[in-house]
Amino acid sequence: MAAVTELQKTFYHVDENGYYGKFGGAYIPEMLYPNVEELKENYLKIMYSPDFQQEFHKLLKDYVGRPTPLYLASRLSEKFGASIYLKREDLCHTGAHKVNNTIGQVLLARRLNKKRIIAETGAGQHGVATATICALMGMPCKVFMGAVDMQRQKPNVERMRILGAEVIPANSGSKTLKDATNEALRHWINNPVDSHYVIGSVVGPHPYPDMVARFQAVVSAEIRQQLKEETGTEKPDYVVACVGGGSNAAGAYYHFLEDTEVKLIAVEAAGMGVHSGKSAATTALGKIGIIHSSKTLLMQTDDGQITEPHSISAGLDYPGIGPLHAHLYDTGRGTFYSITDDEAMEAGILLSRMEGIIPAIESAHAIAVLHQMELKSDDVVVVSLSGRGDKDLETYIRWGKY
Ligand SMILES: *Cc1c(COP(=O)(O)O)cnc(C)c1O
Repeated sequence: MAAVTELQKTFYHVDENGYYGKFGGAYIPEMLYPNVEELKENYLKIMYSPDFQQEFHKLLKDYVGRPTPLYLASRLSEKFGASIYLKREDLCHTGAHKVNNTIGQVLLARRLNKKRIIAETGAGQHGVATATICALMGMPCKVFMGAVDMQRQKPNVERMRILGAEVIPANSGSKTLKDATNEALRHWINNPVDSHYVIGSVVGPHPYPDMVARFQAVVSAEIRQQLKEETGTEKPDYVVACVGGGSNAAGAYYHFLEDTEVKLIAVEAAGMGVHSGKSAATTALGKIGIIHSSKTLLMQTDDGQITEPHSISAGLDYPGIGPLHAHLYDTGRGTFYSITDDEAMEAGILLSRMEGIIPAIESAHAIAVLHQMELKSDDVVVVSLSGRGDKDLETYIRWGKY
């Protein structure tokens, strides 16, 4: 695939001001302007330089284990009456797609002469991916994490520490993700010259959503090539992915955005039910507002306070979605579904029993939606299997119905 060296001026890509239609932008405090501006001015130039591309792709191959397989799940296909392919991001080193983006951003930070990496994490998955790559590159790493989340996610806290990262508790507010984000931003404001802030999904101020989508786009580049080898055509009928912030979905969709005959299916977490008050189904419940310095759809009260989300899967437990996905929803390019906790858990067991793959509970949401889609026998469906279930063993055990 030809490298894209400048902003693609198409309907589904970010424009020069950082917007996807109505969504996006960079609503940042003035103190952060120099950091974000530096990134904006340089990211495409650096990312598409031949030696960056070479270094990035060599690490994706030798360290992450790319290309990940595109696997025709034959028993699942028989059950759902269509050809179901799984894009095996669960086989990436560290167990999920997040590492694709983390490698990209840390390499980019090095080329901007940054000496330190900071990140925030909720459940700890992005923190672990960042700590891993900082260990690989010998860079000091500070991960901000809500004190409550640190209690809830002890194994990931210890993983980060084993990898040499410093985990800093955020003790303000509800002591969860948004408080960790605030602390990380405060730290970045105070250390603008030598630090890079690694954001873990297609969220945050421009250029982060576009940059993260481009790092994850390796997923759909591989899908096209692998599908062509398997079936003779590059384009499936459907690409299905779960959406927390939206990075595995953005990666799986990226090289299909303009191919409108390829239907893009996004799966949000309905938690205990969309209208139960315990959900993370952003497009079903959300309104336009500003979260994480970006204008997008988010769950909020009538007076604009962000609503506490709920999902059984930590990676989908986020009250917003990235601006690209808000635009895909708004324009009808993407079709959004929501899946409850129980439906996701059942799909996780189904995949385990039918294919011998225990998925992350996030990814199980993308499997569960196959029940709701009306598939025809000649349909080709690619599901982004974003992560593996090892991290979720406790949740499977607590759920217990297997
Ligand atoms: C973090 C995570 C997600 C959700 O993040 P996106 O940015 O929406 O992809 C999904 N699946 C897994 C396995 C994750 O770790």
